[in-house]
Amino acid sequence: MPLPDTQDSTMAVAFYAASGLISLTCLIYSLIQGRFDKLHKKLYLWMLAVLIVNSFTETVAVFVTPYRLENATAYFIMTACRYLYFTVHTLLLPLLVYYVLSVTGLSYRLNARRNVILCLPIVLAELLFSTNPLHWWCYSFNEETLMYQREWGITMLYIVSALYIIFFVWTFFHSWRAITHRRRVALCYFTGITILGMVLQALIIQLRVELFAQSLAFLGLMLTIEDESDLVNNDTGIYNRRALQIDWDTLLASGKDFHVLCIKIENPGIIRRATGLSDPTVLADLLLEQLVRYLPRCFIYQTSEDTFVMTLLQQTHPAALTMANHISERFDRSWHCNNAEIQLKATIMLARVPEDIDSAGKLFDMTDTALPQIHSVRLYGKENLNYLLRRREVEAAIQRSLDRGGFEVYYQPTFRTDGLAVMGAEALLRLHDEDLGNIYPDEFIPLAEEIGLIGQVDDFVLQSVCRFINSGMPRKLGIDSINVNLSVQQCVQPGFVDHIAALVKESEADRSQISFEITESVEAGDYAVLDAVIREFKKQGFHVYMDDFGTGYSNMRSLFAMDFDIIKIDKSLLWGAEKSELGLTILSNNVHMLKQLGLGVLVEGVETKEQIDLLAKLGVDYLQGFYFSRPIPEKELVAFLQNRKV
Ligand code: C2E
Ligand code: CA
Ligand code: CA
Repeated sequence: MPLPDTQDSTMAVAFYAASGLISLTCLIYSLIQGRFDKLHKKLYLWMLAVLIVNSFTETVAVFVTPYRLENATAYFIMTACRYLYFTVHTLLLPLLVYYVLSVTGLSYRLNARRNVILCLPIVLAELLFSTNPLHWWCYSFNEETLMYQREWGITMLYIVSALYIIFFVWTFFHSWRAITHRRRVALCYFTGITILGMVLQALIIQLRVELFAQSLAFLGLMLTIEDESDLVNNDTGIYNRRALQIDWDTLLASGKDFHVLCIKIENPGIIRRATGLSDPTVLADLLLEQLVRYLPRCFIYQTSEDTFVMTLLQQTHPAALTMANHISERFDRSWHCNNAEIQLKATIMLARVPEDIDSAGKLFDMTDTALPQIHSVRLYGKENLNYLLRRREVEAAIQRSLDRGGFEVYYQPTFRTDGLAVMGAEALLRLHDEDLGNIYPDEFIPLAEEIGLIGQVDDFVLQSVCRFINSGMPRKLGIDSINVNLSVQQCVQPGFVDHIAALVKESEADRSQISFEITESVEAGDYAVLDAVIREFKKQGFHVYMDDFGTGYSNMRSLFAMDFDIIKIDKSLLWGAEKSELGLTILSNNVHMLKQLGLGVLVEGVETKEQIDLLAKLGVDYLQGFYFSRPIPEKELVAFLQNRKV
């Protein structure tokens, strides 16, 4: 078939073919990317389909139109093309509106009623156009020329389009803050071109630029919004942290209530150990296979190698909880991977947005903070968030203090019950942070243990104590030995005693003036190792105290098995003895038993004269508590003991 020879037709075919090719390229590129689970991706594909169909029908129409008068088939094809063009093209604007709603997150706020209102104009317009051959209200054919001419229906279509454009502009500015700068510019520019194309063609019918302008706009959208290469984790194909950040901002700005579920794998290294596979995708594949049972892939993100986040948009709170519990229960069973059975440990946190978390910063606090292992679902409320924030701050403060010297060792003296003369002093660590003020050891010691800094902290205390001993002051003050607390977690590390001995040797402090306090904890478990450590310490000339007697369950067993010099009875036992007859019996029986075993007994937490009298009557050897002195800086201790008259 020869090309229609008018200049007008040639230009038209060029525009239509170009727009068809551009749209087809975008379609193929999107198909190669292969991710269509998000609503705006589906809409994008539909819009491309509309453009391709339209470009095709318009091109064909240009070719057959010259033959319409003499050839009935040509006339039929021309009419069919026109019919297809209008019915399909009418859909473009509402699709574009939904597309923008979806990209900006406003689609989450559409309920059934709003959807009906939004769709009604287009449904009516569609009805009008698709039934045109019955009434010819939209366009008709001039009997003589058999050319199409516009009727009032077209004006209706332009009114409907104008309505959508107004709504579209409103939507766009309404969600201005919900979208990234890049998306904003992209949407502004490309929708601008689309609308310009429409308006131009509406005004000058011979100007066939509408489809071309639209296909260019869609090419632009593909490059800026639809291209996800920097939003997807290259190895696993799961949405990454950046994608979460973008979606999260959009969701928050849309004002929708939703849940966020975070799964943190505590032992990701087990896969490599059990299977020998070091590929980071193995874990992601294992988990993804499970998670997609609950949610489409587009709601799952991987924010770090071991952390997965899911946004639950449709679920009620009970449903979200149930889902979290199901996922949690899955971790009770093993995972099959490369012929090995793997036991994964996970922390699962569920938070409501915006009640519990209302910013991206807080979300990433939740996903990034290392938590003590919890194997069940943790409901993540405001309190947890404050807890996590504080945790991160204290962790930073520990590191800062180690680097710049914010730690200071305080001393709390201990006394002989008989005559109340000074016996020793316990070194208790204090943390003064510029930003956070004073932080107490009950808070920072467990954290230092978790983040692996406890070794450095303990070394600092020991070095300070050695320096104090070397000053000769403790001896002058009548202090036999200074007690240093050791973390049991450290004690059982291989080479620990050698490390301590080397530190003391280096400082040339007298070992007999150093005692170590060890709290027997149930988790320590490894009695044989701890026993060996204590023996070794004693062999080297140190004294060893058992700390916090009466708080654990395994104390009895260690008492018999291990060679402690002195047992420190926890303050709770003393305070309990004052509260009830039973408490008194427990305290006195314990003191009695320890004495019978030939062990020295110290009671801490002594705050009143009555307590001293009671402990003296029970035969307790040593006392420690606020009655005598709180833990105080080295200088104050010296002054206190020098001025003290018994
Ligand atoms: P702990 O070893 O049981 O230390 C005794 C705690 O009881 C100290 O709290 C002390 O200030 C407090 N205390 C002593 N007498 C009284 C009293 O009469 N009344 C009351 N209400 N409290 C009293 P602190 O200094 O806050 O230390 C808490 C825990 O932190 C210590 O318990 C110890 O387990 C740990 N810790 C402190 N310093 C160090 C350290 O240098 N290294 C290690 N690894 N742990 C430390
Ligand atoms: Ca202690
Ligand atoms: Ca204690």
